Amino acid sequence: MSTSNEPREHSVQGKMLECPICNHKRFYTRRTLMNTPAMTFFGIEWANKEATNYICEHCGYVMWFMT
Ligand SMILES: [Zn+2]
Repeated sequence: MSTSNEPREHSVQGKMLECPICNHKRFYTRRTLMNTPAMTFFGIEWANKEATNYICEHCGYVMWFMT
């Protein structure tokens, strides 16, 4: 039985996601809002967008995708 918090394989742009640090292929996912004061200050256009984080199950490396 699997839940949404369970690490699993993901593909982005048709490629299997692989950790650049340890080459692990299973990631936890998390959604993060990008509207922090610092980003608003610098006038970054995507300040209010949502990012998807993929967190390596093995080493904890976090990948960010702005979608
Ligand atoms: Zn890793």
